[in-house]
Amino acid sequence: MGERYIPQDTQRAVRQKCRFGCIICGSPIFQYHHVQPFESVRRHEVENLVLLCGTHHDQVTRGQITEAVIKEYSTSPHNLRAGFTSGAIAGRYSGCEGVILLGEMGFTYEFETDGVGVAISIGGRPVLFFSKEGRALLLSMELFEPGAGIVLKIVRGEMVIATGVWDYRYEGRTLRIWSEQFTSVVEMTFSDRGPSIQKGVIKGRHTVLGISANGLSVNGVQAMAGFSLHNGCLHFPDDGDGETLIAGGVVNSR
Ligand SMILES: [Zn+2]
Repeated sequence: MGERYIPQDTQRAVRQKCRFGCIICGSPIFQYHHVQPFESVRRHEVENLVLLCGTHHDQVTRGQITEAVIKEYSTSPHNLRAGFTSGAIAGRYSGCEGVILLGEMGFTYEFETDGVGVAISIGGRPVLFFSKEGRALLLSMELFEPGAGIVLKIVRGEMVIATGVWDYRYEGRTLRIWSEQFTSVVEMTFSDRGPSIQKGVIKGRHTVLGISANGLSVNGVQAMAGFSLHNGCLHFPDDGDGETLIAGGVVNSR
């Protein structure tokens, strides 16, 4: 002990305790804060650490939020009450061109006017798409834990994350979510033009799409890879046995 650096295990325990967000507002973009200053305690104990967003960390540093208030929040962190953490910008782009990568499969969209570019729809419902609204190009999508509920939702460029997960790390442009130790359920990177998803699950009522480095599997059968789609959409009817349709756009085999 006595080192400035907070050990990884301790960081994870603090993330889990605070449910992956600022204890006051829930923001998933956070810093580690020692309730009693590190200079006086000289050690990193889970009980003495909390997560705070930049704004609330700043308020604490300025003395606008007292230690007593921090302690009160730490007994009942925002995300423990809310069940979800949100408020981070992720999947918001500018310009006329968006690119979605699912493993090696590429979906590109060019917009001349405001509108929606759907990459995947299930049962008629768009589940992975861009919407062009003025200058902004906004991503929307939902990823699930296999056999369970939503772990990551991006709604028009804003990120919402389920907080009942084992771990969540959003470092640099890479986002990873684990449902339990050694089991990652989401692995993705946000590039300048869109998301690159290496691991994730998209679900309908009867349709489970698994995204991996190889491409897309449909209900457990490795189905699609080796092509890219320009201004087109993959439709899954979601009636239990329907065929996948590729609608519109230009398909390039690779
Ligand atoms: Zn905050």
